[in-house]
Amino acid sequence: MESTKTIQLKITDIDSDLVETMQKYSDGMNYVSEIVFQNGKVIPAMKLQKMVYPYLREKIGLKSQVSCNIPRQVAGSYKTLLEQIKCKKTKWQKLQYTPSSMTLSYKRDYTITEDSVSITTFSSGRKTYNIQNYDYAKEYFKEPWKFTASKVTKHDDGDYYFHLTVSQKIEEPAIEEASNFMGVDVGINYLAVASTTDKKCKFFAGGEIKNQRNIYSKMRARLQSKGTLSAKRVLKHLTGKEQRFMKDVNHCISKSIIKFAVQEKVSIIGLEDLTNIRDTTNVRKKQRYLHNSWAFRQLQGFIEYKAKQVGVLVEYVDPAYTSQTCNRCNHISKNNRKGLRFHCEACGFEMNADLNGARNIEHRTRDFRYIVESQGCLSTIHTDNLS
Ligand SMILES: [Zn+2]
Repeated sequence: MESTKTIQLKITDIDSDLVETMQKYSDGMNYVSEIVFQNGKVIPAMKLQKMVYPYLREKIGLKSQVSCNIPRQVAGSYKTLLEQIKCKKTKWQKLQYTPSSMTLSYKRDYTITEDSVSITTFSSGRKTYNIQNYDYAKEYFKEPWKFTASKVTKHDDGDYYFHLTVSQKIEEPAIEEASNFMGVDVGINYLAVASTTDKKCKFFAGGEIKNQRNIYSKMRARLQSKGTLSAKRVLKHLTGKEQRFMKDVNHCISKSIIKFAVQEKVSIIGLEDLTNIRDTTNVRKKQRYLHNSWAFRQLQGFIEYKAKQVGVLVEYVDPAYTSQTCNRCNHISKNNRKGLRFHCEACGFEMNADLNGARNIEHRTRDFRYIVESQGCLSTIHTDNLS
């Protein structure tokens, strides 16, 4: 498997040539996107390239390399969209591109050193720009890391960054009897609880962060009921603030979870698949709460992304009854759950309810892997974000 890492390096001497290049690039992407959208279904990359190449070259004036990249990228994004439609996450729609992001292939479109990046521009050929590098990032400029397709991105503060993506090949962990698994319950009482096959566990941020979120949600409700223009403005500001707050929290938690996983030599992390709702009331209650919450999906996404960087696999398991099942005797009952405590009515086993959930997820991850292994196919579907 491939381990990838993206480092953000500020471009300190951005000029109109690069801005113009990004504008032309997004013009090209939007033109191609419109064609796929009008077609009503995905067009294979090669066919698409034949259709749009003359326009991109002659009408927009893009270089031949870029005119080949653009249809490939747009085709890739629509393919991802199609996968998400299959999972019922979204519907057919026109993908829009802004001049704030441009993807470049290594060597063909850019080369890089520790302090400068050289990019093919629309009007002035190859141009070199200074980048602000960091000591920690310099290790990614060496073996075994390799440069891959990367992006120039305009951040909200108006500055331009080079998002350098590097990758290296790492061994896929072998699934043996001795493998250590981890289940992560993203929850209501704690934001996350992790538990391993060896029964080591960790709890991540509960009370304080929950309080903070409750404060935000109360403020939001109050502002919404006001409905005035100034209330709407404050609301927008508040939403941004809350999103940044939760993003920070999620970064911290996912980082600690991965650190814990590495320390415990975990090879696979199991997460609950919160996308497909099963017809069980208790699952639905939790899912209703989690499903609408981008923060939980973001946390799972961060865990998946960070796990990949250190060569740990992530598996999504069926979440049905994880909170009602006794992890000692497997008895399932609604009555097993008493608020924050889990108390099995069959065997009397008692423990923290979220930890019981995490253990059940760990079990399921283990079971699932063994079943898949014994059937001899190990393909898992991962869909990337569209953005
Ligand atoms: Zn029991």
